[in-house]
Amino acid sequence: MAERRKLRMAMVGGGPGAFIGPVHRMAAELDGKIEMVAGAFSQSAERSREAGVTFGIDPGRAYAGYREMIDAESKRADGIDFIVIATPNHLHLPVALAALEAGLPVMSDKPATATYEEVLDLEAAVGKSGLPYGLTHTYAGYGMVREARAICAAGKLGAIRKVAVEYFQGWLSRNIETTGHKQAEWRSDPSRSGPGGSIGDIGTHAFHLLEYISGLQVTAINATLRSVVPGRRLDDDCNAFVRMSNGAAGTLACSQVAAGELNEMRMRIYGENGSIDWRQQDPNRLIVKWLDGPEEIHHAAAGYLSKDALAVARVPSGHPEGYLEAFAVLYREFAGALAAWKQGDKNPLPATLPGIQAGVRGMRFIDRVIESNRTESWVEF
Ligand code: NAD
Repeated sequence: MAERRKLRMAMVGGGPGAFIGPVHRMAAELDGKIEMVAGAFSQSAERSREAGVTFGIDPGRAYAGYREMIDAESKRADGIDFIVIATPNHLHLPVALAALEAGLPVMSDKPATATYEEVLDLEAAVGKSGLPYGLTHTYAGYGMVREARAICAAGKLGAIRKVAVEYFQGWLSRNIETTGHKQAEWRSDPSRSGPGGSIGDIGTHAFHLLEYISGLQVTAINATLRSVVPGRRLDDDCNAFVRMSNGAAGTLACSQVAAGELNEMRMRIYGENGSIDWRQQDPNRLIVKWLDGPEEIHHAAAGYLSKDALAVARVPSGHPEGYLEAFAVLYREFAGALAAWKQGDKNPLPATLPGIQAGVRGMRFIDRVIESNRTESWVEF
């Protein structure tokens, strides 16, 4: 008989003052299938212990480092079931490799690694281990993103001809990385962020969503990168043309110097018969426009939606769901995958949950954008 208990999660990163760690904790625990029991929350042992107390876990399970955590937890009868990685990018690969080597599944934040070369090592390690690996491309968890994906997959738009995706933020409009702003500091440091600035931080989300919703792949890109803010070491703005695997074409842009913007991610996909338009800041509505008919507004959780969109709705239509719930959808799917894997399923990740292949694509995107910018030309994927 299947074991009935919550999955035990350990977090690496997400210490005091961290941005995404608390979001992971809330999202992981929302559906009652996962509990956080351990962590190595900071590079400082003392801060990691303090965080453990704040989070209410057994003080003995707030570790000084992730290697110590993996060793100690592997020896416990009630040891952890998986590791979530919420550190700056340069630690994603070493933490993931250490977890996989110890037989622990991984849920990692994006980008999957710091460089394209690294993600190939990770891909090999995931393949060799046979362990589940999930990647938190948050936006894939929204019901209306699932609806847009279902509309494209059903061919309702006809052949896709044009795409336009953008992710604009304004919070790096000034040189705040020199003022002690923690998140800005590592994001603009190539040794911790990797070679991509805005393209790694938010461009990868836009790129992932484009392929996720359209069901197509980007085959070539012609991109321009800029570091608009004086002294900034990595890109803070990107404008690109893309070609898609079916011959469609379009634009992909991201920016962290779009002053006044918060998280303005927008996706438009145009087919022969009509188009879809989704904005992250208005996530419960999907606009569908038809060439030969009136414009429609599809509402989250409404009974007429696709089964994929309804599968992730938690509350009745008209009660807004948002970022946390989208994040939690990914955790719910990961928990389901772990349960299936424990029952012997060798390929348990559902197609809706981003995994290592999404990680490889995302790192390829960063690599190709940098190469295109360097050579001032189109580059193939
Ligand atoms: P952050 O700087 O706010 O937090 C990073 C945390 O990692 C800090 O608590 C820091 O102390 C800890 N840390 C650093 N080195 C460590 C080590 N050796 N061992 C243990 N902990 C260590 O950064 P953030 O904004 O939360 O970003 C973290 C990751 O999440 C990044 O990879 C980022 O790209 C990603 N992210 C994803 C989303 C999303 O929408 N999915 C949103 C924001 C950030």
